[in-house]
Amino acid sequence: MTPTGPLGVQAVLFDLDDTLVDTAAAFAAAVAAVAEEFLPHLEAARHPEVLATWRADTGGYYQAHVDGLIDYRTQRRARAEQIQERFGGEALSEAGFGRWTQLWDRAFSSSWVAFDDAVPALGALRSAGLGVGCVTNAAAAQQQAKLAATGLTETVPLLVTLDTFGVGKPDPRVFHEAVRRLNVPAGRVLYVGDEPVIDARAAHAAGLRGIWLDRPGRRRGHAGEDPEALRADGIAVVQDLQGVLDLLHLPPPVANDWSGAVGQRSMSKEE
Ligand SMILES: [Mg+2]
Repeated sequence: MTPTGPLGVQAVLFDLDDTLVDTAAAFAAAVAAVAEEFLPHLEAARHPEVLATWRADTGGYYQAHVDGLIDYRTQRRARAEQIQERFGGEALSEAGFGRWTQLWDRAFSSSWVAFDDAVPALGALRSAGLGVGCVTNAAAAQQQAKLAATGLTETVPLLVTLDTFGVGKPDPRVFHEAVRRLNVPAGRVLYVGDEPVIDARAAHAAGLRGIWLDRPGRRRGHAGEDPEALRADGIAVVQDLQGVLDLLHLPPPVANDWSGAVGQRSMSKEE
């Protein structure tokens, strides 16, 4: 049984994308790759707008996929078409979408990198005897590849992916499954994620202690991105993963204690 840590917390669960891994930077690389071929008229200075459109997913296509309503390819095609239309590109043929996918995947998967605070924070939590895990709204194969590429495989036992039930957050079942596998009461588990509604509020509603990771400059323009509203409902808001350690009154990680210990890839940020 996991010992009780600071404040009675026994485990900390994390979202993966844009929480432990800088997925937005990888998407920026993917946007640059497809824009060069499919939006050749668009100056590179406007690529951040394309990235913002992708991340905002105003059509709700990715969440429809997470909710089990449409398959992965369908949501991706819809979002690719949305970008082509919004930024003055041609509609994608079937073959064109195949090429688009190839360019996107190659750039995306070669640009994954963990945030600088991820490995130190995970190390500090484990050193304190706390359980650590991940609940992610993407498929297991991709997330396992992402953890391996960012050196997080050894540090983060990947607990629950979209494959587990065919649905993801905010469905409470995925949180409960992670808690069940940790074998600790839900009320003693923190859940940290970059999306206030499907991460922090959903975890809170499932009986965990939800925390919104509001990294500066990383909001998506989604509804619910209001720190005061979350705090008013008893949900903590932090700006980086050190903030999670602070909430637990854990000491900062010792320099060099964990850096490189799990082979964290060193890459410059693309944003
Ligand atoms: Mg996320």
